[in-house]
Amino acid sequence: MYVWCATTKLDNIPGSGILYLREATRFRVATGRRCLALPQSKEAHMADRSKIVDVLVIGSGAGGMSAAVTAGKAGLDVLVVEKEPVFGGTTATSGGVLWVPGTRYAQETAKQLGIEDSTEAARRYIEQEAGNHLDRDKVDAFLAACPQMVDFMERETEVKFHGMAFPDYHADAPNAGIVRSVGTQPYTAAELGPETKRLKNELPQTLFLGLALGSSLEMKYFMKAGRSPKAMAYVARRMLAHIWDVVRHGESQKFVRGRALIARLARTAFDLGIPIWTESPAKRLIRHDGVVTGVEIDTKDGPVTITARHGVVLAAGGSIRDTARRREVYPGIMACIDAVSPAPMGNTGDGVRMAEQVGGRYTSDVTNVAAWMPVSKLPGATDFTGVWPHLVDRQKPGFIMVLSNGKRFVDEATSYHDLVPAMVAAFEAEKLDACWLIADARGLKRWGMGFVRPFPIPHGHYLKSGYLLKGRTLGELARKAGIDAAQLENTVATFNANAEKGEDPEFGRGSFTYDRYQGDDEAQPNPCLGPLKQAPFYAVRIYPGDIGSFAGLRTDGKARVLDDAGAPISNLYAVGNDMVSVFGGAYTGAGAMIGPAMTFGWLAAQDIAERAGKTLP
Ligand SMILES: Cc1cc2nc3c(=O)[nH]c(=O)nc-3n(C[C@H](O)[C@H](O)[C@H](O)COP(=O)(O)OP(=O)(O)OC[C@H]3O[C@@H](n4cnc5c(N)ncnc54)[C@H](O)[C@@H]3O)c2cc1C
Repeated sequence: MYVWCATTKLDNIPGSGILYLREATRFRVATGRRCLALPQSKEAHMADRSKIVDVLVIGSGAGGMSAAVTAGKAGLDVLVVEKEPVFGGTTATSGGVLWVPGTRYAQETAKQLGIEDSTEAARRYIEQEAGNHLDRDKVDAFLAACPQMVDFMERETEVKFHGMAFPDYHADAPNAGIVRSVGTQPYTAAELGPETKRLKNELPQTLFLGLALGSSLEMKYFMKAGRSPKAMAYVARRMLAHIWDVVRHGESQKFVRGRALIARLARTAFDLGIPIWTESPAKRLIRHDGVVTGVEIDTKDGPVTITARHGVVLAAGGSIRDTARRREVYPGIMACIDAVSPAPMGNTGDGVRMAEQVGGRYTSDVTNVAAWMPVSKLPGATDFTGVWPHLVDRQKPGFIMVLSNGKRFVDEATSYHDLVPAMVAAFEAEKLDACWLIADARGLKRWGMGFVRPFPIPHGHYLKSGYLLKGRTLGELARKAGIDAAQLENTVATFNANAEKGEDPEFGRGSFTYDRYQGDDEAQPNPCLGPLKQAPFYAVRIYPGDIGSFAGLRTDGKARVLDDAGAPISNLYAVGNDMVSVFGGAYTGAGAMIGPAMTFGWLAAQDIAERAGKTLP
């Protein structure tokens, strides 16, 4: 191996004993196993297909971007590589909510509500939820770090949160709380600047004429617009501002929820000089003598070798789109179904596979291998844009869910993560595979149903496409859907009689704190219950879907990837959905994915910084 160069500087990868050639202005390198040349300019590196950084982050969702900005703030030289042409991952399309107990927001909201909450209570709640899958050290690390992470982000970066009074998903269990989630404050295209064109958009199907709805209050105004002058006035104002944006800029200039979170993180990254290389999928980790020293990536201009002196952070969003892995670890019928998911097509488990190739260990030893979501899909849908996550309709008065035998099987207002396992268990018990969300005319008009928007938005094309079925009677609807008609009539008659009294003796719908939070606050005596009696009746088929992986790489409290023996692999970290769920596969409350993603991203960067002799500001 020979190197000719005018000026050189040697870099060392700590712990590896490996020297790298940095800053070569004129050189010729015969490819060597231990010597890579690094030109300084981007053009030069593209010509020579190599680059040295302190930290390489794979994936630009919440996990990766949290690690990137934290490492950048510690003074490290960071590069983020992203497979898609846009940055933001699932996170950009998400609610942008984080479950992070013990923050100052939790304290403030608890004070406002006159209640108490503590990290200790959150710890006990997590213990109950995780059961046998509890990783105590990791939970301790998470709980200790999340208030610090939130403070750090708000102090050092563009990220700004707001407190929420959102009940945990098992809010009536001992030690549950209602103040542990935080939301992300909106942001604007003007603040992000020209990079807006590379910022991933919301799920297009959830936009209303190109407009993304922010808070749940805003969503309520939109749903009530057809029947409340106050709501209509709000919607009119919001739409006018949006139309003005579209006329001037071609699209909405306001970012909300997950898109605002990514835009805020990206603004900080760019301010720190951290590039995000889009269309640059990581392909393979490079490992020497037990130390991960870099990554091979593809770019539009060909492969590039990145040397990461202090750490590689896997944040590639987990294995939700890895069909082989689904076949292996998903339970029962779920193993046979290809992803019916609003998650991005690019989350194909690359991070997990790359880690396995260098000794990392994937584990599906969790209560749930994924975060579940009941979804519907447009006929012929081939990707995530044709899939609807049923987050807000099924909990409302005038809706029920039945199997094709016409029977209910679940409290329809329960969390999405609990509803899908109930559906799968019912399929297996009854040897069926179809489930329907049914509404009467009033329910559909008030709340819409999946892709179908509330009154006055027309829904004729959904009837035409077969997404939405309609019957003048329940019997007619049942025959169109292939549901047992006599049983459906029976089920609805029983449900209605109880709903009028505000009761659901079979499944207790609306008797749980979480249910009521999702209900219609104007409905009495039970916000989740109302009879289905106004014809025509409607049905949409519901599938058991998922929104992200809970099975993933075994990691420790510093997000270091562990090998078979449980020892950390030097320089390799995994965060977000590449890392096995810190809650052992439980969905503790709103934000139970992005909260840990950002917290372990922060922890990973903190460990890298310490090892590099740097401190966080
Ligand atoms: C509609 C919806 C709403 C949601 N709302 C919430 C919420 O409010 N709160 C919450 O906690 N969770 C929510 N979730 C789940 C949450 O969004 C995800 O679990 C979380 O954002 C995952 O973060 P991540 O950083 O692990 O991955 P992602 O955000 O998916 O980012 C991973 C990135 O890695 C990239 N990538 C993949 N392979 C490679 C490769 N080889 N090289 C380079 N890049 C690669 C991907 O393209 C992607 O951009 C929601 C999910 C959905 C679908």
